[in-house]
Amino acid sequence: MAYCILEVVLDTPLNSSFDYRWPCQPGEEPQAGQLVLLPFARREVIGLIVAIKHDTEVPPEKLKDALDVRSQLSPLPERWIALARFAAEYYQRPVGEVALPGLPKNLRVPKTVALDRALKKLARLDPVQDATATGMPVLNPAQQEAAAAIGQAEGFTPLLLYGVTGSGKTEVYLQACAQVLARDPSAQILVMVPEINLTPQLEGNISARFPGVMLATLHSSLSEGERMLHWLAAHQGQARIILGTRLAILASLPNLKLIVIDEEHDPSYKQQEGLRYSARDLAVWRARQLGIPIVLGSATPSLESWHHAQSGRYRRLELRERAVRDAVLPGVRLIDTERDRPRDGLTGELLKALRQRLERGEQSLLFLNRRGYAPVISCDACGWISNCTRCTAFMVLHKPENRLRCHHCSLELRIPRHCPTCGNVDLQPLGRGTQRVEEGLQAMFPEARVLRIDADSTRRKGSAQAAFETVHRGEVDILVGTQMVAKGHDFKNLTLVGILNPDTALFSQDYRASERLFAQLMQVAGRAGRAGGAVSEVLVQTRYASHPLYGAVMRHDYERFAGSLLDERREAGLPPFMYQALLRAEARELPIAIEFLEQARDCLPAGGILVNDPIPMTMTRVHNVDRAQLLVESASRPALQAFLREWVELLRAMKSRVKWSLEVDPLDI
Ligand code: ADP
Ligand code: ZN
Ligand code: ZN
Repeated sequence: MAYCILEVVLDTPLNSSFDYRWPCQPGEEPQAGQLVLLPFARREVIGLIVAIKHDTEVPPEKLKDALDVRSQLSPLPERWIALARFAAEYYQRPVGEVALPGLPKNLRVPKTVALDRALKKLARLDPVQDATATGMPVLNPAQQEAAAAIGQAEGFTPLLLYGVTGSGKTEVYLQACAQVLARDPSAQILVMVPEINLTPQLEGNISARFPGVMLATLHSSLSEGERMLHWLAAHQGQARIILGTRLAILASLPNLKLIVIDEEHDPSYKQQEGLRYSARDLAVWRARQLGIPIVLGSATPSLESWHHAQSGRYRRLELRERAVRDAVLPGVRLIDTERDRPRDGLTGELLKALRQRLERGEQSLLFLNRRGYAPVISCDACGWISNCTRCTAFMVLHKPENRLRCHHCSLELRIPRHCPTCGNVDLQPLGRGTQRVEEGLQAMFPEARVLRIDADSTRRKGSAQAAFETVHRGEVDILVGTQMVAKGHDFKNLTLVGILNPDTALFSQDYRASERLFAQLMQVAGRAGRAGGAVSEVLVQTRYASHPLYGAVMRHDYERFAGSLLDERREAGLPPFMYQALLRAEARELPIAIEFLEQARDCLPAGGILVNDPIPMTMTRVHNVDRAQLLVESASRPALQAFLREWVELLRAMKSRVKWSLEVDPLDI
């Protein structure tokens, strides 16, 4: 019997590939990109073939046979493997740890029932698709220009679609999709959104406009069966439009011709655990690799993208006005909470505005980025406060469940009846979260229909969508919510946005806090007055009414604000003018983590890299683990990359028992 050697990568922290033997006749070898079932460390695991060879350095007695090549599945394209290789190199991870977790779970199990079932299902579908778009509205001139620029772009073209909230960016995307599909009916288009909750709205729009085209969705709340089916539809080129959250960037899309990233500035494009990739950055890489256009859309672009647009690397497209006739950006007013003291968190001005909306039958939205009832409870008598015993954080009061909850380690306790230190029975909630605001509103406006939307109220699958639908149907008068309600939603009858307590971010140590706060306020303000007609306004309750950030929000002046932030970053030597990586260490005790980082610093390879001191993370302890970090920086990305490659080798060789991880381009430092 003849054999060939399969070189495979596996989902292991080992940074190497493995050789296996596979019996086959010459000319019938498997191909790179195929999946294969293998014996590995007394288990059966799935690997990805990256090369076919005829000999190996593995001694014959150690060479194992592969168990099954998944020949029913077409190979993952070479360019997809190149993407995984790039991401692995860039983020300093083994290729297998990038490539395999990117595949649906059902492909990574010994049994093939799920795969075979999905294949059968897709084979039964009509192969003919009608890419004609229907019901397209007439675009305004600015939209037309933008859509044409995207639709006609050739080769790698990054376009920044900078359009105010409600300027009709979605229509531009849809029109551009229509143009691409009209030219090439088998083209695939990837559309990414930052939040799962935004997929139903866009899914509805896309399937209404392209009724004859197969649409696949990829996000984390699909069941494994659905995920398999949708992934496969994309991989086989059947799905023409693929709508997803950040994980969709790792989908196999053999005929990808256009990428759209909506709300490109959104931090949720950054994966915060495991492979900490930026889906936006990978998307730009992918577009360059394939030589295709990519659209980055936002009313408040990330400073990185804005900087590229300023320097001409990205082409800027602009929508300065709202798309709906008569719809204008809402007026923004600041309410000084020193003068107008809030009652139940709401100032007199805001209450008056709410009352007006109720009388007119219009909807209001109150935005507060803090869930729960109160962020902490305390004892007036002795000063005890509800600290989490496992984290550097407070236990948050959740009133509906009568619980204290830590939002970082999920510790849950019953609310103590009396103070654990002095026995005082009068424990007080301090501050307020969405639950408390909701309660206050219900007491003040008993006839109003108040709905709270946050991570707590939408735990059940489908409940977020149901909640948003009740708002769209007009069955809600006052909506209270966290950032979940701030993004992207096209509420038609909403004319008042109240922003409660945004001030904390003004004084954050995180240098990105003001960029984020500004984007968030512009986003949430942008939910008001989208349909035109009624006068809409945004009221911001603040103690710092003269802060320049609020001035910029009042003027809807992203450009000047971004300009001044970029100047500050340039002066201070911060991204996007500097490239950073963060080494994190976790240990039972902080000194152990710090000591590890000091050792890591001592074994640094030479090179023009700026190395900071190891410091505890702002939230030092989470779930009884202490965390510290070491920041390294360079003005040159290639220099940083070269340095990291060497450093990671040295770190791996250190054999420390400390758990460490490296993050490239960290967002939170
Ligand atoms: P954005 O994503 O820029 O915030 P949307 O794409 O949600 O804005 O559009 C805002 C509203 O404008 C939507 O209700 C949409 O239907 C409407 N709209 C978009 N383009 C047009 C147009 N050309 N004519 C009329 N209405 C439009
Ligand atoms: Zn006490
Ligand atoms: Zn905790």
